[in-house]
Amino acid sequence: MQAPGEDDPAEEFRRHEERKRLVYSVALLGGIAIALLSWWFREPGDLFLERLYPPFAAALAVLLVLLRQRYLPLAQIEALTVATAAALILGRLAWHLHFAAGIEAQLMVLVGGHYWAVGILIAGAFVMLDRRRGTWAGLAILLISLLLAGSAALVEMRGPRPPSDEALMYLVRVHVFLGLLLALMAAAAGMRDQLQRALLRAELLHDWATTDPLTGLANRRAAEAALEREIAYARRYGRPLSVIMVDLDHFKVINDRHGHAFGDAVLREITRRLDAGMRDSDLAARWGGEELLVIAPGIDTPEAAELAERCRRAIADQTIEGIRITATFGVAAFRDHDDRDRLVARADRRLYAGKNAGRNRVVAGD
Ligand code: GH3
Ligand code: MG
Ligand code: MG
Repeated sequence: MQAPGEDDPAEEFRRHEERKRLVYSVALLGGIAIALLSWWFREPGDLFLERLYPPFAAALAVLLVLLRQRYLPLAQIEALTVATAAALILGRLAWHLHFAAGIEAQLMVLVGGHYWAVGILIAGAFVMLDRRRGTWAGLAILLISLLLAGSAALVEMRGPRPPSDEALMYLVRVHVFLGLLLALMAAAAGMRDQLQRALLRAELLHDWATTDPLTGLANRRAAEAALEREIAYARRYGRPLSVIMVDLDHFKVINDRHGHAFGDAVLREITRRLDAGMRDSDLAARWGGEELLVIAPGIDTPEAAELAERCRRAIADQTIEGIRITATFGVAAFRDHDDRDRLVARADRRLYAGKNAGRNRVVAGD
């Protein structure tokens, strides 16, 4: 009974999580494939690749299983994925700088890929984690990279083959670049968060402005807007449109005898029963105190009278906490020269005719 085009936020959140799971699955599969291919086509003597890529591929496979089987919440999978990728990429960097042939000899490898991997890791941390955790992860990655490069440079400067000024400048430049990337990602993530909060606020305000808090139905404002829209469609496309006005019988007495809180519970239960009998394209709204309006596009008087009769029985045939509640229904179908007020007034007149005729009934004609 949601207004057309509106989605349940919880449902939307679930779909969003599903999409994330799919994207992460593909990324993890890609990571496993790259690790295994790199291992298979490794150059001889590359101990890091030989020893560490298979366990890395296995770790990614474990993450993939955890992700697909939903053993862990998505946020934890994200953090573990970033940590695993960081361990590999920074470990490889440490290998190049400290254990392989040294800065000068490895410069092409560093230029050709390794610092790009670090940059992608920083960006990935922001995409996967929220802004605050992304910033901390990015800072940690940048700091470790600086420590690795700085310590390697210091060690080599004391040794027999100190690195050239160009190589050192390259290491400085690449870290300035990584710092800029970090700042840029933090700013972008900040803007993304702000935008998300603004959208959420707007959605909340829209909900407050259009929903009745007691019953969760559309309120009068939303119902009037929906009715205007449906009348415009009905007029333009010549398609039928009916409205049903519902008023609970002797509700003052119910309140007086059983208390206002029970009256509220009755209203909620009646709403639930009305809801169950309607189509998705119908809209039920709280028009006034205990008056409800059903807007039913696409159906004419006889069908609307049937719908109203079904709702009447759903209310009257089953007691609420042992108390029988009934309601009276006035049905009106759209006519060519109707506007909103005329259409509703006709349903209202029939409702009161029903009240005068003894209540607990549907009146669909004059
Ligand atoms: P009738 O059969 O003629 O409709 O009799 P009635 O007593 O229902 O008369 P009417 O529709 O005029 O009375 C509406 C009553 O509904 C008055 C008010 O106490 C009660 N009411 C309206 N809104 C609420 C609400 O949100 N909660 C509760 N508990 N009662 C409400
Ligand atoms: Mg009443
Ligand atoms: Mg009333």
